[in-house]
Amino acid sequence: MSNLIVEKRDKFEKGIDIKIDTTIISQNNMTFIAGPCSVEDKIIMDEIAHFLKEQSVFFIRGGAYKPRTSPYSFQGYGVKGLEIIREVANKYKLKVVTEANSEKNLEMVKKYSDIIQIGSRNSQNFELLKQVAKTDKPILLKRGFMNNLEEFIYSAEYIAKENNKNIILCERGIRTFENSTRNTLDISSIPLLKQRTILPIISDPSHAAGRRDIIEELTYASIAAGANGIMLEIHPKPEIAISDSNQTIDFRTFERIYKNSQALFKIIQEVNHEK
Ligand code: PEP
Ligand code: MN
Repeated sequence: MSNLIVEKRDKFEKGIDIKIDTTIISQNNMTFIAGPCSVEDKIIMDEIAHFLKEQSVFFIRGGAYKPRTSPYSFQGYGVKGLEIIREVANKYKLKVVTEANSEKNLEMVKKYSDIIQIGSRNSQNFELLKQVAKTDKPILLKRGFMNNLEEFIYSAEYIAKENNKNIILCERGIRTFENSTRNTLDISSIPLLKQRTILPIISDPSHAAGRRDIIEELTYASIAAGANGIMLEIHPKPEIAISDSNQTIDFRTFERIYKNSQALFKIIQEVNHEK
């Protein structure tokens, strides 16, 4: 069976470069994406975007269409949310990562975003994958929380098959018997996906942990395992975040994690060079 991503990796083969303006997301560098779980009101979004700009973080995240487990939970601000995140991103020259959770909102999300996220619950929504592949945007594909690595790679294949290789894989934890965390961050998936694909791998400790007290450790573990990026949920006042408050970290914590992560990434790169 022919496929486009699962190639026998030559040690010296360079992974794919995903260019977004002046930034490149690839297996050879590290990217941070941060922001609230759901797009919040304009004042809070402005505060977050301003903070990211100060930190030199280039990507702001936030969902306007939220795939929530309960239909009674907040479902996102929809188009209004897309407008808010785009407006603050433009003001501070940031790039927008936001989720399309249905073919119905794909066109809208495409219009307002720089990277289209496909969430864990839609990781095997094959029709959505085929449609998102046809957009000209890079795609951040999250691992389905019940999917093994082969299934995850095949989801990416659905996109690649449409001739779109601008795919960023995101490890966000899987469901296991362990219940002290929301999901179990599958650290092994990071080096394994790097071996088996040419795509950059981003780790999302926030949705894996579901609790803010271990986000820092999981971030460093992900970088040590070879992650090419980290996605974190942040908020100026995490306790009042509209959704996923428990796993959201404050600015001060983010600042420390971000600084240490850059130092750690350099060390890991040197270690890998010696291999
Ligand atoms: C998210 O990143 O906003 C999200 C809903 O995550 P996941 O799809 O991994 O649950
Ligand atoms: Mn969330």
